[in-house]
Amino acid sequence: AAKHEGRSTIRTFEPVMLYERQLRTLMASELRDAIGTDQLCVHYQPVVNLSDGSVNGVEVLVRWEHPSRGMISPEDFIPLAEEIGAISELDRWVMTTALQQFAIWRAALLLPDDFQMRVNISAVELRQLDMVDFVRSLLKRMSVPPPALVIEITESALVSGGEVETYSLLSFKQLGVSIEIDDFGTGYSSISYLRKLPVDMVKVDRSILQEPAEGTWQPRFVAAVYQLIQAAGLGAVFEGIETQEQAQFLRSLGELSGQGFYFSKPLPEPDITALLRSRSALPLGQNDVLSGGQ
Ligand code: C2E
Ligand code: MG
Ligand code: MG
Ligand code: MG
Repeated sequence: AAKHEGRSTIRTFEPVMLYERQLRTLMASELRDAIGTDQLCVHYQPVVNLSDGSVNGVEVLVRWEHPSRGMISPEDFIPLAEEIGAISELDRWVMTTALQQFAIWRAALLLPDDFQMRVNISAVELRQLDMVDFVRSLLKRMSVPPPALVIEITESALVSGGEVETYSLLSFKQLGVSIEIDDFGTGYSSISYLRKLPVDMVKVDRSILQEPAEGTWQPRFVAAVYQLIQAAGLGAVFEGIETQEQAQFLRSLGELSGQGFYFSKPLPEPDITALLRSRSALPLGQNDVLSGGQ
């Protein structure tokens, strides 16, 4: 009877699965068409120097404004792009857009010297032998100094890290571009493994800051994670800072940068440009200036 039940359960779901498969195929072709059009754009989330509140960088985050389905989250379409082999084109479009924007801001004198542009790439890109050359020539064409670029790569994706990936990481390092391991604390890689990779920094996943139960976020846990990263000789950037308390606590830990809704959500280009412009006219900022301005 159980076997029979199981079979009928599967049958019940078949039409849904069929529909989902068709929807996926449709979305896949729509996504292919969307790359390079104005359906895709990027938003910029400020990265803040926690000791003085100044904006010392931005993270570039892709957005898909679907003509009929509305805003689709990258959490949904990045995996799809990876699956259909369109991630390379997408990531390179984002990288190009980001570095063009950097050049515009710099020409307008809106950027402090230590400003860094943080761009996410899929780890699939590390297996593309021409990725480093692509970035190198783009930096040159846009006259962007390599240290101004930070490439974020998701931790879990690196676990499989083979020789080609390691070669790409070393080539980026040689080029002077920083590599940052994203979503640190959520993947399966051990810190001893990360120490062996040619990476400089980790982006601590927001789940590390999040409260395990309501009203009980754990500063001691956060401090321990930070100390571990430091002891491994890596730099840390915190994401998902949502409260003033978290911002102040992180500031007490050391010279740190961070980002999160407490400071600002990811902003469309005109808004981030306005923020950069206003900041450049301000003396060393306070956090309340930033949070008031969003
Ligand atoms: P990520 O790189 O870890 O980016 C941080 C995500 O956390 C962003 O989500 C951001 O909007 C969100 N976030 C920032 N501050 C806060 C906060 O205080 N609280 C909370 N709850 N969330 C916060 P988003 O923009 O939806 O991006 C999701 C993921 O999609 C990114 O995670 C990244 O892995 C991927 N992604 C985004 N853009 C690209 C891209 O151009 N290429 C690739 N390959 N992946 C991308
Ligand atoms: Mg990221
Ligand atoms: Mg992250
Ligand atoms: Mg993430």
